[in-house]
Amino acid sequence: MYDPLHDVSPGCGQPYPDSYWADISGTPPEHDGAVSQDIDVDVAIIGAGYTGLSCALHLARNHGIKAHVIEANQTAWGCSGRNAGFILKSSGRKSYSQMAKQWGEEVMRGIYDEMAAGVETVNGLISEGIDCDQQSAGYIKVAHKPNKLKELVELAKLQQKMFGYDVEILSQNDLRQQYMDDRNAYGAIRYQDGFGLNPLKLAWGYQKLARAAGAKVHCASPVSHWKTSGNKQVLQTPNGTVSAQKVVIATNGYTPKGFHDLTTNRTLPVLSQIIVTEPLSEEQLAACNFLTSNVVMDTRALKYYYRKLPDNRILFGGRGAITGKSADDPYYAQRLLSVLKTSFPALANIKYSYAWSGWICMALDDLPHIYQNDEQSVFYSMGYCGSGVSFSVQAGKRLAEKVAEQQVPNLPLYNKALPKFPFAPLRRVGQWGYFHYGKVKDSWF
Ligand SMILES: Cc1cc2nc3c(=O)[nH]c(=O)nc-3n(C[C@H](O)[C@H](O)[C@H](O)COP(=O)(O)OP(=O)(O)OC[C@H]3O[C@@H](n4cnc5c(N)ncnc54)[C@H](O)[C@@H]3O)c2cc1C
Repeated sequence: MYDPLHDVSPGCGQPYPDSYWADISGTPPEHDGAVSQDIDVDVAIIGAGYTGLSCALHLARNHGIKAHVIEANQTAWGCSGRNAGFILKSSGRKSYSQMAKQWGEEVMRGIYDEMAAGVETVNGLISEGIDCDQQSAGYIKVAHKPNKLKELVELAKLQQKMFGYDVEILSQNDLRQQYMDDRNAYGAIRYQDGFGLNPLKLAWGYQKLARAAGAKVHCASPVSHWKTSGNKQVLQTPNGTVSAQKVVIATNGYTPKGFHDLTTNRTLPVLSQIIVTEPLSEEQLAACNFLTSNVVMDTRALKYYYRKLPDNRILFGGRGAITGKSADDPYYAQRLLSVLKTSFPALANIKYSYAWSGWICMALDDLPHIYQNDEQSVFYSMGYCGSGVSFSVQAGKRLAEKVAEQQVPNLPLYNKALPKFPFAPLRRVGQWGYFHYGKVKDSWF
């Protein structure tokens, strides 16, 4: 599999991975064809995931700028077509209490408002007619150890007090009787407003809206070289160059090695793995008391997440391999299946029908950053740390405002560059160490 720390290109026109989403979602919508000649444009956006498509959509709708989105493979070939489809009011991994400590309450609230606006923006776009199989609302955060419930309850109280956020506390019994009989769960908190959807259909819906607003989307057009010539950015694709006044880098965890100085050594691509089981029978659902279609995540350092899909399969995810070379080793899918079985022993004989993985994009400070060069000619948004389905759309909207030279909220999300990783060539060694630390922490603490 393509490995962004080692490879200089994600490929050209590669098919979607063998995911559940690619299998069930039907035919991709039309795009504008690969770049086939030299073109001169105002704004080029590299990457047709949620970030790039949202930026193109908002540039066209709100600022009258018709951008060209240049995608190496297919629309949403990266994370946007491979994720678990959890819409959550959050991004990054930094806790609100850490934010308050570092920047004060006002900034913390500002960041919360942006995360909330992300969910509103997604809901607003869906309501324009995107068919993406939304499921019933609710996000359950499960304590994987008895002592973790106390931390969750404290978090719920803080969020209620700070943001008036509606958070329900569920005892182990409440959870097992009303939602699902997860044997690894010791209680939970439940937010009313998260939900699951089909992430690939969501991205395809954004593409239709962006093109209807006047943006162009060119698939099978990897940018292989980039030079600056006068006040133009010149992007080389296999069959033509794209010369642009301004360029947006929307390649997130799929950014190739050494792609641009602005982002080099500032992210760590990490594999997240998903399996989707065969459909559960009525008996199996009853044996697990699997009543809910809410999205579920646990409190481990190395988190597991799951949801029941509309056709009664279970989508189950967690960390994947460390390198692209070992990404497709069935060991990682089997490992997830065995954890799923410890949660639901009644599924001892269940098999998985689909397994795939994708590169999430970690930032050193656990926060996404939307930033630009001094000349205001190259912009980027990345570092969602595995939680970007809703916020990437808000980030795309803010990117569009930056490109159009408008003010954006004065928050670390928007006014600070991604910090550089120290000893960047050793990022994978650090990741390996973190996985081992996480394993010990999750087992013993
Ligand atoms: C397994 C998994 C599960 C996840 N689950 C969730 C979840 O449930 N909820 C949640 O909030 N987040 C989740 N995420 C994270 C979320 O999917 C991402 O944060 C989000 O999709 C990022 O979107 P993006 O548009 O920034 O990047 P991407 O969707 O990754 O798009 C980047 C695009 O750039 C293209 N590209 C790269 N290099 C070039 C080049 N040189 N030329 C042209 N194009 C290029 C790639 O082909 C790719 O299509 C998950 C991620 C993974 C991998």
